[in-house]
Amino acid sequence: MEERLDAALGEASETDRVVIEKGALGQVGEVFEGCFGAVPAVIVADERTFEVAGEEVERSLKAAGCTLAGRFVFPVHPPLFPDSEGVGDLREWLRGREAVPVAVGAGTINDITKRASHECGRPYMAVATAASVDGYTSFGATITEDGYKHTLPCPAPRAVVADVDVLAGAPERMTASGYADLLGKITSGADWIVADALGVEAIDRTSFEMVQGPLRRWTAAPGRLRRGDEEAVAGLMEGLVMSGLAMQRYRSSRTASGAEHQFSHLWEMEGLGHDQDPPLSHGFKVGVGTVAIAALYERMLLKDLTDIDVDGICRRWPGRDEVERRVREAHPNPVMARAAVEESLAKHPTAGELRRRLVRLTQGWEALRGRLREQLLPPGELRRLLAEAGCPTSPREIGLEWESFRQTYARAQTIRRRYTVLDLALESGLLEECVEELFAPDGFWGGSSASP
Ligand SMILES: [Zn+2]
Repeated sequence: MEERLDAALGEASETDRVVIEKGALGQVGEVFEGCFGAVPAVIVADERTFEVAGEEVERSLKAAGCTLAGRFVFPVHPPLFPDSEGVGDLREWLRGREAVPVAVGAGTINDITKRASHECGRPYMAVATAASVDGYTSFGATITEDGYKHTLPCPAPRAVVADVDVLAGAPERMTASGYADLLGKITSGADWIVADALGVEAIDRTSFEMVQGPLRRWTAAPGRLRRGDEEAVAGLMEGLVMSGLAMQRYRSSRTASGAEHQFSHLWEMEGLGHDQDPPLSHGFKVGVGTVAIAALYERMLLKDLTDIDVDGICRRWPGRDEVERRVREAHPNPVMARAAVEESLAKHPTAGELRRRLVRLTQGWEALRGRLREQLLPPGELRRLLAEAGCPTSPREIGLEWESFRQTYARAQTIRRRYTVLDLALESGLLEECVEELFAPDGFWGGSSASP
């Protein structure tokens, strides 16, 4: 693992040091000193994560000779969200202290600290308390502002320390969430293959391989994760960290996020599971999104795309006004509608551009289909893996109404400009047909798969 991480750190632009080991909390002081020198540190945590690791982090910092300039501990009730309010509170507090923040926690604490540190013009360091997200090492923080989920630009942490003992002791649902987020790279990798084949976005081999190379190995043993097996948890954390480092290299989340994340983003923006305590995790939404997208791929791969009616599709292709009208119709919330219109129009090809793309598709379909079959796993197999890790695998389990889930296939396509299988299906005139098939009585979501 160390060699792979070292090579990845060489590719990453912002993170210099990653430690994933048993007992790593004891190294926090030394890592901090090595990255920032003799500057004071402040701890940022919530009540729960502080209890798990805060004191030991402070001890390690003091032992290395660092000065502690205070701690900012968020309450756990009401549940903390990565929103502009949390960022603002922390930023104002940090402004009163000349110190480097050490975020002790999981995804939310890390995102808030990442953004607030950036707004104060400071670097920071992360101490991970759960292998629950890939956001530790990614640049950019996912912050909700006026109900819309944005990825706000800000540098990744200078260093990440993950103590495997702490990760293995994290609540089962958090490890399971991280597993689902990582498993989603199977469909996101497929989406990049599609975008590459159609000349929309070429694959950067190094960034692609950083995640896709070891992905099957990282995700092979979900049952061991559930039992808190340290080796399996360390492997999961490595995968999540590598996903972030690949984003740093490629300067985009393309390396780690495709249509499965568009599903989860849409549900997140609409507040799915926000009223649960703890709130429904990012990973659990991504997991169900991954199954849903793999099911769509399964339908698409059964089609003969060498035979689509390019002329007919291009003749019926909507203009920009029509796209805007449809997108607005699909999003009753005006803030979301505005953002979705911008994203949709940014990727909407002219009829001429579409024709060239579709010709390329028909000519290259057999080769593309082969690449995708190698990349993907069947949706049923993904469900089995997720269930073994302790993740929900069906829309109902995460509280989605059936009709709203069905509509996600069309709506999610509109919220991000990133090219995915949703665009492939839409542009080849097959999205509606595939969704019909998926929800037919003998389709993936129509029969026994639909339960519970
Ligand atoms: Zn994710």
